[in-house]
Amino acid sequence: MPDVFHKLRLRLRTLGLIGCLAALMAGLWVPVAQAADVEGVRLWRAPDHTRVVFDLSRPAEHRLFSLSGPDRVVVDISGADLNASLSDLSLDDTPLRGVRSAVRDNRDLRVVFDLKQGVRPRSFLLPAEGGQGDRLVIDLHDNEVRERRVEPASEPAGNRSRDVIIAIDAGHGGSDPGAIGPGGLREKDVVLDIGERLVELINSKPGFSAKLIRTGDYYVPLSRRRDLARQMQADLMVSVHADAFTHPSARGASVFALSRRGATSETARFLAQRENEADRIHGVGGISLDDKDEMLAGVLVDLSMTSTLNDSLRVGDSVLKSMDSVARLHKPRVEQANFAVLRSPDVPSILVETGFISNPEEARKLSTSAYRRQMAESIARGVEQYFGQNPPVGTLLAERRGGGGGSEQEYVISRGDTLSGIARRYNVSVTRLQQANNLNGHTIRVGQTLRIPSS
Ligand SMILES: [Zn+2]
Repeated sequence: MPDVFHKLRLRLRTLGLIGCLAALMAGLWVPVAQAADVEGVRLWRAPDHTRVVFDLSRPAEHRLFSLSGPDRVVVDISGADLNASLSDLSLDDTPLRGVRSAVRDNRDLRVVFDLKQGVRPRSFLLPAEGGQGDRLVIDLHDNEVRERRVEPASEPAGNRSRDVIIAIDAGHGGSDPGAIGPGGLREKDVVLDIGERLVELINSKPGFSAKLIRTGDYYVPLSRRRDLARQMQADLMVSVHADAFTHPSARGASVFALSRRGATSETARFLAQRENEADRIHGVGGISLDDKDEMLAGVLVDLSMTSTLNDSLRVGDSVLKSMDSVARLHKPRVEQANFAVLRSPDVPSILVETGFISNPEEARKLSTSAYRRQMAESIARGVEQYFGQNPPVGTLLAERRGGGGGSEQEYVISRGDTLSGIARRYNVSVTRLQQANNLNGHTIRVGQTLRIPSS
């Protein structure tokens, strides 16, 4: 219900006239004082829908409908002029054959989406906020939901032990740029880049397998992100962010876990509110997917939640400690707040703020690939250390750790490895590593197999 009210309020606000309510309900055109211009048209392809955003110079009324023979979706924007090109839109991998425009009744802009495949269209208006102007959003949901079950990141082998699976969630995406820093640096781009590096780093570690939740520039509703992590059978979900705060002076990296009762600090509360808000605005059809799973949540979920939350706090602590060497920490402990993306009853989940993009110094760092790499490395190291010490049952790591007590592991050197790095990773001293491998100095070579003595 609140969503319905919100939508109404949104529309009323865009119209600016309470008196138009009757006309609105009758589905009639509502005259606006001045005509709007379409100043830009942007398109994103997500795995299950295509989103088109019209950037408007001011709010405008619109009508959306489908026509057949040939199949097309039509949007009429009242009194609008098109000051943008439709021919530059990339329609690759979309159900669209083409996009064209015409002037209708000498005053309205008509945009026609010619279809290759059936879609279910939805539309909503986004009011100007956060440096963006008024927008009209058209979501074309794929009709055939392709069987797109996410494969578990590792093969479920017969008696073979499995990898520890890490789901990496790059925050925001598509029409939701996240926070915007000096020089137009966008959070969604920074965190996808860090996320990609993180996946690569984790995959290079024996016994680990990582996958991205969003693989490109599109928005995924928060509850969907949790579902995808669960479908991957992830042992952990790491959501990566680089948010803005009200004061440009706020800085530091931080790690968050879920809190169902209250936030541990004002910053935590503020950030969780902002993140959850993004879903209300950019979620499907402008209406966030209700947390139905929360309504079903009973005692069992609470019980599972408690142990999941404990795991989240412990892995979060490990990541925070690891980040300490790379970044200044905002708070010396894992913070807690009610982030919707972290509300999985059975997948331990943490949210990592890699820095405040609103802080000029941190924004500068976040724009460099060196810092992004360091950040990804430190998160990966924290994750690896935690699971090295707490391997889930049935995993390769558990087998190695438990295998007959005092059994040795092997590690194949890859590029960039150092002896001290490997020692730290496996929690053994450099000296023991040297002794176990008859090494005199610190020289190792790529491809060389090291014996790792049990710690
Ligand atoms: Zn964010």
